Amino acid sequence: MANEDTKNRKDTDIPSASGQIQTDFIRSIIAQDLKENKHGGRIITRFPPEPNGYLHIGHAKSINLNFSIARENANGICHLRFDDTNPVKEEEEYIESIKEDIKWLGFDWKEHLYYASDYYEQLYEYAVTIIRKEKAYVDHLNADQIREYRGTLKKPGKESPYRNRTVEENLDLFERMKKGEFEDGTCVLRAKIDMASPNINMRDPALYRILKANHPRTGDKWCIYPMYDFAHPLSDSIERITHSICTLEFEDHRPLYDWILNELDAKDHPQQIEFARLNLTYTVMSKRRLLELVKEKHVNGWDDPRMPTISGLRKRGYTPESIREFCGRIGVAKSNSVVDIALLEHCLREELNLTTQRVMAVLRPLKVIIDNYPEGKTEELDAQNNPEDPSMGSRAIPFSREIYIEQDDFQEEPHKKFFRLAPGREVRLKHAYYITCNKVIKDEKTGEILNLHCSYDPQSKGGGTSDGRKVQGTLHWVSVPHALKSEVRLYDHLFTKADPDQAEEGKTYLSNINLNSLEKISDCIIEPSLKNAKPGSRYQFLRHGYFCVDPKDSTDEKPVFNRIVSLKDTWAKIQKKR
Ligand code: ATP
Ligand code: MG
Repeated sequence: MANEDTKNRKDTDIPSASGQIQTDFIRSIIAQDLKENKHGGRIITRFPPEPNGYLHIGHAKSINLNFSIARENANGICHLRFDDTNPVKEEEEYIESIKEDIKWLGFDWKEHLYYASDYYEQLYEYAVTIIRKEKAYVDHLNADQIREYRGTLKKPGKESPYRNRTVEENLDLFERMKKGEFEDGTCVLRAKIDMASPNINMRDPALYRILKANHPRTGDKWCIYPMYDFAHPLSDSIERITHSICTLEFEDHRPLYDWILNELDAKDHPQQIEFARLNLTYTVMSKRRLLELVKEKHVNGWDDPRMPTISGLRKRGYTPESIREFCGRIGVAKSNSVVDIALLEHCLREELNLTTQRVMAVLRPLKVIIDNYPEGKTEELDAQNNPEDPSMGSRAIPFSREIYIEQDDFQEEPHKKFFRLAPGREVRLKHAYYITCNKVIKDEKTGEILNLHCSYDPQSKGGGTSDGRKVQGTLHWVSVPHALKSEVRLYDHLFTKADPDQAEEGKTYLSNINLNSLEKISDCIIEPSLKNAKPGSRYQFLRHGYFCVDPKDSTDEKPVFNRIVSLKDTWAKIQKKR
């Protein structure tokens, strides 16, 4: 956990929450810039989401990077800017969800909330300036032709027949584009750079297009919209961003970013720096695909607990701390890689191990009658809340003659390596007594086991005996008359393959969806201390994993628990093997 000392550090060596000193090439660049007083001591970063979907764990990496850099520097600021230049795909719902997710992750843009659409007027003027400099023209080729003229990596492009229109003609046509005189797709404004450039992004890229669509913020005011490559550097410059941090796929766009700012003699010329995007095993990350999963109902909405979205992780029970810890541990690098999802789970387990109360829940109940325990008696047994943290105290749990144990914890004909309850065998009940199984009652017709009759050793209270005899198994249990019912949802990865793109020929990643990724168990038994468990609160169910009270689907009568993560730490195992 971060202590006061680590929270207040202002240098570039940032200890991650785990206490390790962390630095990276971006922080080194920034440290150097500060040393050279490159931006007059200012550090301004930004997180620029397109409001066309919900944020995912990959965005968390970028958010963590940009906002942390601002936080680490005395004069640091991080802007939240909505890159809302495509009204066809953007919605208000996404804007609200993005804000909520960033706040939940623990970051704050303060008064620095901006929209690219705030700059439409300025951007239009900039476009006019570029036309005047003979560095942009209105092109009447259609989309297919433009693609064809663009050439390929091996073949240079061809100049458009409209490329040499006069400044006057271009100014007139651009204004008429703005006035709505042309239909969508009939013409675009293009930069006049170099159709033979080895970098395809420099082959006269489009700067403005016509889209007769209603914009969530500007309504019908505009029917031409700036392209990302035009709006982005200029928005950065208008906001006086110092370091424009983006993912690697924009590396080839950097010459264009710089070209635009140079052509317009921008007073503030931010430095674009690229880093590798986050990829996770068993996960797809692009918004287009996440939207597809939602629209085609492969999941129950953007916040389905199996989704890699921030809202999905939140509903599942992830904590903001564990996500930030994960982002710190994966670091920031310049080459693409795939991170094992086990690391994300490991970060969460490490935290929840220290912070959650241990409770007992029986997912598939089997009734046990303890014949030598007095009928009608209830004992309150003392149960420690968290052995990792004695300051979390203990609670009383009721014990009585009838209890539920897990069906899996009994085998009538035990397997060689099965050490739990079996006929004639003695086991320990957690926090309670030793019991021995004496009789198995079955349904005469089906042979199904209905309940077990056991006896207990009154001397073994609290888990030990005076004669020191040992038992191998320890079972969790819940007293029958005190039991509460609940629904439990167990989740598995959404995809069966570590790389969901590895699909059979002719099939897509959708063919790798894990059809068993959600298991709902409706009649689970939980201990009575969970009666007023708050929505969103987290527990360790002994031997089952960490669970969270579903904030939306729980009712007072029947809480719903999501399993956040099981106890099996595959990441720790991988580390040990190394
Ligand atoms: P996607 O490709 O998932 O649809 P995007 O890049 O189109 O995402 P934006 O809303 O444009 O989504 O992204 C906002 C910021 O988040 C950008 O700076 C982008 O580089 C960054 N980002 C997006 N995906 C990742 C990722 N997987 N890892 C790190 N940063 C990311
Ligand atoms: Mg994008």
